[in-house]
Amino acid sequence: MAVSKSRSRSTTFNCRICGRLARDTTGTGQELCSQCDGCTMIKNEISDNDLTSGELADAAARIVKLKAEAIEKGGKFD
Ligand SMILES: [Zn+2]
Repeated sequence: MAVSKSRSRSTTFNCRICGRLARDTTGTGQELCSQCDGCTMIKNEISDNDLTSGELADAAARIVKLKAEAIEKGGKFD
């Protein structure tokens, strides 16, 4: 098993959700890649707001798109 050398002072980390190596561009320190961060925000939006079915479908589509992007960049989802 190869040990990643990315664990230095750099701001890279493995995303907590999809596991891909990402950089903390948002400065939130949440260790989420930008796609998973986006998914999380959309999910919060869903739980915080009373969305119409059309808005829910739109939010779900945005999540699918972000996940596809993360997978394309090496992320994995169960
Ligand atoms: Zn991720």
